[in-house]
Amino acid sequence: MNLTHNRALLAIDQGTTSTRAILFSVTGKILSIKQKESNLYYPHKGWVEQRPDDLWHDTLSVSRAVITDAQLSGIQVAGIGITNQRETTLIWDRNTGEPVYNAIVWQDRRTVDLCAKLKDSGHEKSIIEKTGLIIDPYFSATKIAWILDNIEGSRARAEKGDLAFGTIDTFLLWKLTKGTVHATDVTNASRTMLFNISTLQWDKDLLNIFNIPVTLLPEVKENVAFFGETKVDLLGAAYVIGGMAGDQHAAMIGQGCLKPGMIKATYGTGCFALMNAGSDFKISKHKLLTTIGYRIGNNACYALEGSIFSAGAAIQWLRDNLGLLVDAPQSEAIALSVTDSNEVYFVPAFTGLGAPYWKPNARGAIMGISRESNGAHIVRAALEAQGYQSRDLINVMEAECGNMNLTEILRIDGGLTGNAFVCQFLADMLDKTVEIPAVMESTAWGAAALAGLQCGLLTDLEEISKNWVCAHRFQPQISKNKRRTLYDGWKKAVNSVLANC
Ligand code: ADP
Repeated sequence: MNLTHNRALLAIDQGTTSTRAILFSVTGKILSIKQKESNLYYPHKGWVEQRPDDLWHDTLSVSRAVITDAQLSGIQVAGIGITNQRETTLIWDRNTGEPVYNAIVWQDRRTVDLCAKLKDSGHEKSIIEKTGLIIDPYFSATKIAWILDNIEGSRARAEKGDLAFGTIDTFLLWKLTKGTVHATDVTNASRTMLFNISTLQWDKDLLNIFNIPVTLLPEVKENVAFFGETKVDLLGAAYVIGGMAGDQHAAMIGQGCLKPGMIKATYGTGCFALMNAGSDFKISKHKLLTTIGYRIGNNACYALEGSIFSAGAAIQWLRDNLGLLVDAPQSEAIALSVTDSNEVYFVPAFTGLGAPYWKPNARGAIMGISRESNGAHIVRAALEAQGYQSRDLINVMEAECGNMNLTEILRIDGGLTGNAFVCQFLADMLDKTVEIPAVMESTAWGAAALAGLQCGLLTDLEEISKNWVCAHRFQPQISKNKRRTLYDGWKKAVNSVLANC
């Protein structure tokens, strides 16, 4: 008798633009999916916030809806995996559960000055050596410090042990277990800038540098673990939460990038390319981040990461601020309505430039405008920017690789991969084969698979990579010369943005 045939895995994927619950079969087939768009708030220039209540209620409502679907189909949920937008920072009261401030989203730049001060005081080297991260407002540590320094009474409450910090995974785990579990996983911890990724401990020196009391911090577990059980009155049963990983790490697992040199890139609000860097911790020489890929017992790897802050965000901006698009998918037809971008370049540095530049004060630019330029050229330039930004990262990864072979294949996922123009341009600009998986929801599938390992529905990670199936493949089609000319134009555009910040 096949005991797994009516058992399935539930992934909660709390992203920047939406919250999703997805029910997966053991082989990664989507059985049910529910989604809610998230609101973002921009209270000041460079500030980006979300309401904790929205994140929680959206999570609850999509999870309930998927569980109802499962029940109607006679499917039993065997376990839950959580994956989330990383770095986004929340602090709440341990006794009442009340957040002391909104969630400060990873894109938020309010701590630029604090980051500059930390660099000036000579902390950069030791921070990189311990965390693999480059000082930038992106990470949680300065966001936590901002809350403690700006929300009245919060520092004293934190020191008394009354407050808890969490990234969104931790917050949802706390809510789903009704305040009984305060924990995170190694990948989310590795993005806080407080976690030593060699010793796998919260680091006292880092806590001192950022002036953050240890009492705030959650327990850190591996990616597959018994994280807790949902309270019955929330989801109708006590489901085991058995897997947890930050979104990019979960996508790396879902994409089956388990061998050193394999890369995946996720194109959502931002773009994040992660290369499996093997089991030894090495600091990047070219301003990539070193981060924990995953850790499941002896099966563990580090990853080199290139983080681009604005990818799909540029498409949203064309839609919402310029009115050039009715919706994001329309960008494909508009880009194809012109033969090229007419030498227009779009550098989408809305919230600074991430890897490999790390310039939080950089701002976006549209360059090369002439009398012949039109909206379609700008739309096309915004889509092409995905290819150029990715090329910046892959170049650096190649330089970083040493004797490890970087694969000639890039596995991609995320909202933008629905755009065939973007996929083809990526293949053209990177001179690599670009592959889209049959399981499009790699991030959620990675989280579900982690839960599957905990509850015994899956035996090992290899099973995930063996079952990985390619749905679409894009091959490079442009000449070397054309590639070089196009990329040279991009470099000029980026250099002028850099010269102005
Ligand atoms: P996140 O996980 O960051 O919330 P998603 O992976 O859901 O993001 O992707 C959403 C992003 O992808 C949005 O910024 C949207 O503008 C963009 N997007 C979605 N579909 C398309 C498309 N067909 N063409 C271009 N951009 C798209």
